[in-house]
Amino acid sequence: MTTTVQSVEHLHARPAWDCLVCNQPWPCANAKTNLLSEFRGFPSVLAIYLNGQMYDALHDLTSHGELTPADLYERFISWARVN
Ligand SMILES: [Zn+2]
Repeated sequence: MTTTVQSVEHLHARPAWDCLVCNQPWPCANAKTNLLSEFRGFPSVLAIYLNGQMYDALHDLTSHGELTPADLYERFISWARVN
């Protein structure tokens, strides 16, 4: 998905999935803020997008036989749920 964000974009670096800008596990706080703003009004689209990102991350993070990170759902999905 392309964006029109003109400020520095907080994107993940594969395969580590840390933010390119702040080196925090992606999505970092800034990325979350940007995503919530970008997908405002389209929470189901955001959920689908984040699901795809989570499975990409799961694939990358376990591609050398590592255990599945336990917090992926919290990290990628749960913060974006609308209440
Ligand atoms: Zn960041």
